[in-house]
Amino acid sequence: MRLYEHEAKSLFAKLGIPVKGEAVVNSPEEAKEAAAKKGTSVVLKAQVLTGGRGKAGGIQMADTPGEALEVAKKIMALKIRGFPVERLLVAEKLDIQQEFYVGVTIDRINYKIVVIVCPEGGVDIEETAKKSPEKIHRLSLSINDSLYPYQAIALAKALGVTGGEVRKVGAIIVNLHKLFKSCDAKLVEINPLVRLADGSYVAADARMSIDDDALFRHSELMAMGIEKRHEEGEMTEREQQAREWSIPYLDLDGNIGMFPGGAGFGIMGNDFIEHFGGKPANFMDSGGGPSPERLAKMLVLLDENTQVKAIFGARFGGISRCDDFAKGVIMFLKEHGLSKPMVMRMTGNMWQEGVRLFEEAKREHPELFEKIEIHGIETPIEEIAKRAVELAKS
Ligand code: GDP
Ligand code: MN
Repeated sequence: MRLYEHEAKSLFAKLGIPVKGEAVVNSPEEAKEAAAKKGTSVVLKAQVLTGGRGKAGGIQMADTPGEALEVAKKIMALKIRGFPVERLLVAEKLDIQQEFYVGVTIDRINYKIVVIVCPEGGVDIEETAKKSPEKIHRLSLSINDSLYPYQAIALAKALGVTGGEVRKVGAIIVNLHKLFKSCDAKLVEINPLVRLADGSYVAADARMSIDDDALFRHSELMAMGIEKRHEEGEMTEREQQAREWSIPYLDLDGNIGMFPGGAGFGIMGNDFIEHFGGKPANFMDSGGGPSPERLAKMLVLLDENTQVKAIFGARFGGISRCDDFAKGVIMFLKEHGLSKPMVMRMTGNMWQEGVRLFEEAKREHPELFEKIEIHGIETPIEEIAKRAVELAKS
């Protein structure tokens, strides 16, 4: 489960990882007060369980308490990746000279703990890993290994840090590794670790994810008010909506809406889309019998997602029949319409009848089917996946 930035920073502070005087507030008025108390320019930061807040407008500066009030109002009106902003961190604005990345996580392939550093911080580390992998430095450790100062110093040097600052950064890396182990973390990340004009270093951001199954071992975390965060805290609004409707659903990063038959077909569909160079916007299962009501809800989840550019539908009729499926989808199209192009294929139980129903409905209401392509068993599933990728691009 993920921790909020302010929770992670309070753990940093306990271990001697430098953070700058920060306050958590629940309203724009409190943000104004906190800024007045600090008496400096401040940075206001949305406390949400997702990254990329900067790009989404969730991190903003204010030079006066009045400005802090206005900026806080703006940030608190945002929804960042589906997360409403209910709290802000108000911190002293840092005069940043340089940004670095430092993180500790689990290497699941080699069963190791891996310390990762990169001289380019403040940006998405996944992007850097793709574009300039040579900039990323790693140190693998076994679960029982300590991280020795000499190793941390080598990592600090790899960041390009020099002189007396090497020890400071080395100590931060050692402490971050300690924190990782002492909390049963899955990830601890400082992105960016910043260098200030006076040569000191501060964790400007903090991201932590801990193993919730190990939380019972950490009375000190529970004493701080860190609770087992039921999935809701980590779910997007759409995922919460889907849960209310009992539809197993996950938001993903891509732009192809996945409208599958069962979960198995759903997983396969996602693999196909990736194979042909596309990116699924979600994973979904019908979560029980695909009644017309349920199909309508599944389509609403996709239709209302502005990220979705095209929908990939693949139905395999097993116990449930394709003609019933077709009836449900047609009913939805008549009642709500679909704003996105969709390519669909039906095979299995009663697929011919399903296709026939679609064709009939299309003759009656061609306007509803302009952006919908229906296929049966004659079209291989690969073609459907390719077509969905094409549609999403155009
Ligand atoms: P994220 O976008 O969710 O990762 O949020 P961060 O806390 O990492 O902030 C994003 C970016 O905002 C950082 O990489 C910095 O460039 C900038 N930023 C954050 N805090 C400060 C600050 O105190 N002063 C300045 N000048 N920039 C900051
Ligand atoms: Mn960050």
